[in-house]
Amino acid sequence: MSAHSDHTDVRQEVVEFARRMVRDRLVVGTAGNLSLRATEDLVAVTPSGMDYETMTADDVVLVDLDGTVVDGARRPTSELPLHLLCHRRHGARAVVHTHSTAAVALSLLCDEVPLVHYQTAMFGGPVAVAEYAPFGTDALADAVSAALGGEGTERSAAVMRHHGTLVHAPTLGSAYDGARQLEWMCDVWLRASAVGRPALLDRGQVDEIVVRMADYGQR
Ligand SMILES: [Zn+2]
Repeated sequence: MSAHSDHTDVRQEVVEFARRMVRDRLVVGTAGNLSLRATEDLVAVTPSGMDYETMTADDVVLVDLDGTVVDGARRPTSELPLHLLCHRRHGARAVVHTHSTAAVALSLLCDEVPLVHYQTAMFGGPVAVAEYAPFGTDALADAVSAALGGEGTERSAAVMRHHGTLVHAPTLGSAYDGARQLEWMCDVWLRASAVGRPALLDRGQVDEIVVRMADYGQR
C-alpha cells in the first residue's frame, strides 16, 4: 500500500484505546479487542494476543469487511467474526469488546442489565445478555448480534455471558465511553444487590430518556 493509504492515524487511535482498556481495568492482560472503520470497506483491528503496552500502529491489522487481511503482518484478533458482523449488520463504525469484571459477574445472574440508571438509554434501551458460545466462533457473533436486536429494537451494546461486553458507536471515543458506562451500571447493580433488592426504573421511564437523548443529539 502507498504511504497515504496505510491509515496510520486510525491504527494509532486503536493502539491508544487498547492501552486505555488495560489501564481502566476493562480487560486483563491481552484480553479484549477493538476495531475502527478506516474507510467504508476497511477496518483496523487489534492483533491477536499482543501486549497492548508494546504494540505499535504497525501491529494493528487492516482487514476488509469479509476478513481478508489487506495490510499488516500480524494475525487479526480471534474475535474478528464478532467485530465484522457488527460492522456489516449493525452499521458499527467502532467496536469495543471488554472482559470487564462487573459485566461478567452480572452475566452469570441476569438475562438483561437491570434498569438501575437512566444512562442505559445511551444504548437505545435495556441491554441484553447474549447466550454463551466459544470465543472466536460465528456462533458467538450470531448470539451477540441477536442480543443487539434488529430494526426497531436495535441496541448499541450487549453483555456476553461468561465472557464480557461489546459496545459499538460512530467513534472509538464514544464506544469506549459506552463500555465504561455499561461496566459502571453493572457495578451499581451488583453493589445494590449485595445489600438488598434494588429498585428499578420501568421501561417507560427509560424510553422517555431515549427520546430525550435523541432530541438532544439533533440540536
Ligand atoms: Zn473476548
